[in-house]
Amino acid sequence: MIILVRPNADPKQVENLLTLLRSKNISPNVSVGCHQTVIGCVGDVTHLDTNLIEALDVVEGVRHIQEPYKAANRLFHPDPSVIALPDGAIGGGHFAVMAGPCSVESEEQIIGIARAVKAAGANVLRGGAFKPRTSPYSFQGLGAEGLRMLSVAKKETGLPIVTELMEIKDIELFNDVDIIQIGARNMQNFNLLKEVGSYTKKPILLKRGMSSTLQELLMSAEYIMSSGNPNVILCERGIRTFETALRNTMDLGVVPVLHRLSHLPVMVDPSHATGYAHLVEPVATAATAIGADGLIIEVHNDPAHAKCDGVQSQTPETFARTMTKIKALRELVDKKIL
Ligand code: PEP
Ligand code: MN
Repeated sequence: MIILVRPNADPKQVENLLTLLRSKNISPNVSVGCHQTVIGCVGDVTHLDTNLIEALDVVEGVRHIQEPYKAANRLFHPDPSVIALPDGAIGGGHFAVMAGPCSVESEEQIIGIARAVKAAGANVLRGGAFKPRTSPYSFQGLGAEGLRMLSVAKKETGLPIVTELMEIKDIELFNDVDIIQIGARNMQNFNLLKEVGSYTKKPILLKRGMSSTLQELLMSAEYIMSSGNPNVILCERGIRTFETALRNTMDLGVVPVLHRLSHLPVMVDPSHATGYAHLVEPVATAATAIGADGLIIEVHNDPAHAKCDGVQSQTPETFARTMTKIKALRELVDKKIL
């Protein structure tokens, strides 16, 4: 349920309304927009007397949100959410590029790539330490040692880091991690979503499951948000279809659809979506042009010998060329030409 506040409402009366809601075990989420202030009601609203609330002077109206996702719903928060990053922000006109190898392989490798992607204009360093691999015989990541190497690369370059969390027991190792990734395979690991939502307020990069609908993606965001962490970044990374020419099928149209349904930032991962390095740039540029709030791109110093996802990894040189195009496109998006 959302409560529309009358323009020019007396702040003291608004405060009384918030106190009333809290006394009914509702957590009010106040979103002050340019034209309208709305109060999103989180909690069980079935016992609220909506007629009584609608009758208050400060209230313009009460709307029930039909969709099963509430906190993630655009109605709940009409302006786009801007999620602060250590360097800049993402959402509401702020664009971020996260880049780095699929997996951290050595200190030298991650520092070298971090320097290269930073020089090309990336805002965040990616690198997997705990890897969800389809085969138990594939490289599973360096775990805690990989996280330590990411911290060294962060110290060396100043780049914040994003890396995947697979089990909540590992979160104590994530102190130095700036953005926590929940991967496609864990998008519906509801216990992990609840735990990550209650344990931390760090931004969560939530990747769409490979066979998930947008409603399912938004319900997963809802799990994190309703557990206490509003800082969710959605990420489209391709879905499974009958097409086999690419690793996954890039579902680019979801970017404007998600922006209409939700206030959360929407990123695109052109690496996992295509599976081939030569397709990363065309999809990354298309994603930028369609209005994505950010990109996450795999970059490896020696893709032919990468321990994971080398075929889809750009070299630092190709990444730098792609970044030149992305920056030019962003200027057009900012000027509303695209
Ligand atoms: C990754 O980012 O390396 C990864 C495993 O992504 P996804 O969960 O989208 O497959
Ligand atoms: Mn990967």
